[in-house]
Amino acid sequence: MSAVIIDGFQIAADVRHQVAEKTAELVKTGVHPCLAVILVGENPASVSYVTGKEKALAEVGMKDRSIRLPESTSEEELLKIIDELNADESVHGILVQLPLPKHINEDKVIMAIKPEKDVDGFHPVNVGNLVIGRKAFLPCTPHGIIVLLETMGIKTDGAHAVVVGRSNIVGKPVSLLLTRRETNATVTICHTGTKDLASITRQADILVAAVGRPKTITADMIKPGAAVIDVGVNRIPDATKKSGFRLVGDVDFENAKEVASYITPVPKGVGPMTIAMLMQNVLEAAQIAAEAK
Ligand code: NAP
Repeated sequence: MSAVIIDGFQIAADVRHQVAEKTAELVKTGVHPCLAVILVGENPASVSYVTGKEKALAEVGMKDRSIRLPESTSEEELLKIIDELNADESVHGILVQLPLPKHINEDKVIMAIKPEKDVDGFHPVNVGNLVIGRKAFLPCTPHGIIVLLETMGIKTDGAHAVVVGRSNIVGKPVSLLLTRRETNATVTICHTGTKDLASITRQADILVAAVGRPKTITADMIKPGAAVIDVGVNRIPDATKKSGFRLVGDVDFENAKEVASYITPVPKGVGPMTIAMLMQNVLEAAQIAAEAK
């Protein structure tokens, strides 16, 4: 039997709808959630991500303080803008779209954002709070994955989750979220140093692929009945498309869906959840700022 396709597009729309309702309530109290999105340069993937975020802000009724800067912007200029936004009480969240041009140190930029406005959840204070189980802004993609699992009723308690990828933005934080007491999975993290990847992925009740390489996970690497979450977003040439490319994940979807019990498609799986969880974080930042008033 073919797997249930997890409709991340619809689940994300439901999250945005809930955020929009709570945003309207907060606006009535005089606090209007506002996100500053900073884009440096014109990397086509980044432009499309930023446009998606701007669209979502409008949809949920939040203020959008988009700042588009030329590729030549210096690190000093960017840090100065972040300082100004940190001090601006009408801005609740600051997001710098990554990757940045090579002459700008990403770590320095992430560290410059006030943890209270770090709605991406990348600042070491938020990462540290996540590690020790304190309240933190959760990174959006990993949090979105947990919401997908919860919404679909996929049991994590006692499940063996295998995460392929150990990046700071996906692999590591999703592994941490899966091991939290409320999620309670047993997690194995794989990377390029992993020997015999297939023998490990085949043990997974929940398999998360966050690799960035098409077809890294093939059907024979999946345990029958497993839930497969494909985080990968890869552009592959496709002459039939106007853009000349199409998006695929890290999983060989067509064959994997015949083995798995649940699977996320690419696009319209994990991707829309990332933006929805970002909206939720901005709302939370604005609610915390409102309480502190
Ligand atoms: P990344 O920083 O490049 O990390 C990739 C990870 O995969 C690394 O830990 C790497 O191992 C591991 N890896 C690479 N090849 C492997 C292989 N053959 N076997 C086992 N492990 C392997 O990428 P990322 O930022 O985590 O992103 C991963 C993918 O998710 C990308 O396609 C990205 O575009 C996508 N993504 C999607 C969203 C979304 O909203 N849907 C958000 C973020 C990222 P090493 O550490 O050993 O190098």
